[in-house]
Amino acid sequence: MELTLKNITKTYPGGVTALKNLSLTIPTGMFGLLGPNGAGKSTLMRSIASLQEIDTGSITLGDIDVIREPDSLRRVLGYLPQDFGLYPNVDAVTMLSHIAALKGLGSSGGQKTMVEALLQRTNLWQHRKKKLGGYSGGMRQRFGIAQALLGKPKLIIVDEPTAGLDPEERNRFLNLLSEIGENVIVILSTHIVDDVSEVCGRMAIIDQGRVMAENEPRKAIEAIRGKTWRMEIDRADLPQLQREHVVISTRLAGGRTIIHVYNEEHPGPRFEAAEPDLQDVYFTTLGGTLQEAYE
Ligand code: ADP
Repeated sequence: MELTLKNITKTYPGGVTALKNLSLTIPTGMFGLLGPNGAGKSTLMRSIASLQEIDTGSITLGDIDVIREPDSLRRVLGYLPQDFGLYPNVDAVTMLSHIAALKGLGSSGGQKTMVEALLQRTNLWQHRKKKLGGYSGGMRQRFGIAQALLGKPKLIIVDEPTAGLDPEERNRFLNLLSEIGENVIVILSTHIVDDVSEVCGRMAIIDQGRVMAENEPRKAIEAIRGKTWRMEIDRADLPQLQREHVVISTRLAGGRTIIHVYNEEHPGPRFEAAEPDLQDVYFTTLGGTLQEAYE
């Protein structure tokens, strides 16, 4: 099964064009959609989920035409939106059963078994009778996944899910997602590069409504191997270095400032070869050597 997006454009009534002739093919597995704030990620996610209309283009999931048959899409969709709200005074079992009923999954014994299995799978079993208002950020997001998995969806969309989670909760959440991603399409939309490098088999970087790069994270990293260089600097020298080099990132490490520079060859004294990572790919794609691609 594949999700295919072809030539999608979307301009909001205020005049902002959030998606510009965007095309992407997304296979089964974990797909990272990476981009800075305002890139168009949420617009794209809502369009795929058939929660808002696009101006032109087509979206198909397998043989479902998402634009023409939004109801068919919704039957196989699990969606965890960015601003997922919960009823604070309801417990997890009651809420999941209620959402299952809304999704038309009936109220039989089968539904009860499904709800229980999902609470086990998302590690919320021991908290199933607790009011959702008392859940931690990580528990809330895992509950969000439990509700998205109701009805065995073929496509799961999660929008900025790790924002605000502590490292342990984030790990737990990403592990849960990658388990799910073995059999279905999971789109993880995020501006956090590490989320994608840790769990996604494929990814696209989008900016200003366009696809800037699409690849497997490890192949994208290999493509810049030998072209990234690091140097420890005085912060005051940064503007000068930015004029002279393609500075792709500035990082702080133990109170020191380290820059990464993109260059085909050794850029000069004091630079040493840097082991490239997805951050380098991301910043190179967004701001460095590919800048002309914005026009
Ligand atoms: P991201 O999820 O990557 O942060 P969004 O899809 O939210 O990006 O936004 C893309 C662009 O569209 C931004 O410039 C944003 O201000 C604009 N935008 C998003 N939603 C609306 C809306 N409902 N009305 C008008 N402009 C919007």
